[in-house]
Amino acid sequence: MVIQKEFGHLWELLSQIPDPEIPVINLVELGVIRKIEEKPDQDKVVITITPTYTGCPAKKLFNDLILEKLYENGYKNVELVSQLHPVWTTDWLTEETKAKLLKEGISPPTAENKIIQCPHCKSTDTRMISAFGSTPCQALYSCNKCLEPFNYFKCH
Ligand SMILES: [Zn+2]
Repeated sequence: MVIQKEFGHLWELLSQIPDPEIPVINLVELGVIRKIEEKPDQDKVVITITPTYTGCPAKKLFNDLILEKLYENGYKNVELVSQLHPVWTTDWLTEETKAKLLKEGISPPTAENKIIQCPHCKSTDTRMISAFGSTPCQALYSCNKCLEPFNYFKCH
């Protein structure tokens, strides 16, 4: 994703917030923060957020974490706008973020064909064990090659 150049200090603050479901990545890396606008005339900050998927239970938590972080840093008047289109996709994760997920044993889908790769041995011979993994945004898979279970990041 293209990170907006303006309001770098605000992007910086938001990048300090870990994803509540996957703490190794932050909300900016997750790509849920789409736009930041500062309105000095109204002494207000407007943040546009696209949740990872509409039923994502983490959505309210994202909002609370953002408001809390900005409040602590002197931004008392913050408006959060939910933008549902275009829908969030794992394509918004950078290669660096995907590499971090793989390291955590979480398999992000590939953009091309959604091949689900084992984060341990990189085999694509995998099968789903349960539609719900350790969080509602993940599914539990097993690798047919190395037999290790892993979480697949299914939100899209
Ligand atoms: Zn494997």
